[in-house]
Amino acid sequence: MEISVDSIHNDGSDIKDVSGAGSSCLYDLLCSEMPTMESQREKWMAYGPQKRLESLMCQAGNKLCADCGAPEPKWVSYSLGVFICIKCSGVHRSMGVHISKVLSVKLDEWTNEQVDELVKLGGNTVVNTKYEACVPSYIRKPKPTSSNEERSDFIRRKYEHLQFLHSDENLSCPFPPSQGRHHHHHHHVDKKHYDKQPTKHRIGLAFRNSWGRKDCDHKHSKKSHHSLAGMVEFVGLIKVNVVKGTNLAVRDVRTSDPYVLLALGHQSVKTRVIKNNLNPVWNESLMLSIPENIPPLKVIVYDKDTFTTDDFMGEAEIDIHPLLQAAKACEKSTINESLQLGSWVATGDNNLVRDGIISLEEGRIRQFISLKLQNVERGVLEIELECLPLTQ
Ligand SMILES: [Zn+2]
Repeated sequence: MEISVDSIHNDGSDIKDVSGAGSSCLYDLLCSEMPTMESQREKWMAYGPQKRLESLMCQAGNKLCADCGAPEPKWVSYSLGVFICIKCSGVHRSMGVHISKVLSVKLDEWTNEQVDELVKLGGNTVVNTKYEACVPSYIRKPKPTSSNEERSDFIRRKYEHLQFLHSDENLSCPFPPSQGRHHHHHHHVDKKHYDKQPTKHRIGLAFRNSWGRKDCDHKHSKKSHHSLAGMVEFVGLIKVNVVKGTNLAVRDVRTSDPYVLLALGHQSVKTRVIKNNLNPVWNESLMLSIPENIPPLKVIVYDKDTFTTDDFMGEAEIDIHPLLQAAKACEKSTINESLQLGSWVATGDNNLVRDGIISLEEGRIRQFISLKLQNVERGVLEIELECLPLTQ
């Protein structure tokens, strides 16, 4: 059925005018159906964005990754309007936010407006009708088990180079229009959506920061590394909330302009700079992919200097193995109540102020860590980690 809940809602007043036209089956049907639809829409909106998102996720077309067909995808490119698996989401992020803006169904907090945008784009089936309208026979769509290379190749052709659009939108398509598989069904996805996407979402920004800068770094440094970047195997994602710093070191005359750099393997992301503050509150979430070898998460605090190199204000290293293991273990269990899973115990050998307790709350594995900054005279940094293993 093509009628969206939205159109019924908007056209409700017009439909009432039909009452003058006498009784018809359609009218009877509308009289009985309309109040239900109306109240259903209200109920639907009252569920809140997260529940609405989950119900979208359950729609037939969205139960498989739009790009590789993996079951139960938990990631969304909300600028393209597709539900994708975590492996494909890595490729989407690597293309940059001008192509695809990725959010997690579970980890990110969605707004009703973002869900509305997603609803408008129509879901996996509609979007694939456009972006895979004309896939040449020599191109194979990746499978859930495909290598990162195959996956990346297909996804970039599909969304970045737009090679499979219907032939009147894509002059390089090797098939004449009559052979296009979905002749009448293109143009479902309005290109304006690219510009209309809200860009102030914190995680979205974090992705732009991390991947945008990464692309930039590659351009300036090793070119060969760029092609390899898409081939690194990731075992999961880590969301780092940089909460606050306390009693940080003075680097300017009386104060500092601190920011935090997080590095994991070859990736790095930065928080914003907070001016003139030795007790800055960032409360900023940044996302990093966890490479296969699971390197330690490096945390470095700098003082932003406009005219000279930024000054060092301390550093710390975090072992993310325990968190990742807890997340993997919990994934298989069906425990719903909150509980403490383990901790990273503060000792003289590490830089913890107190034990870094790993907890499970509402199905999310989190660890709060208070770090004594090293190689600096003073300063404590509080961060919160959340981990998603690759299988999600
Ligand atoms: Zn996939």
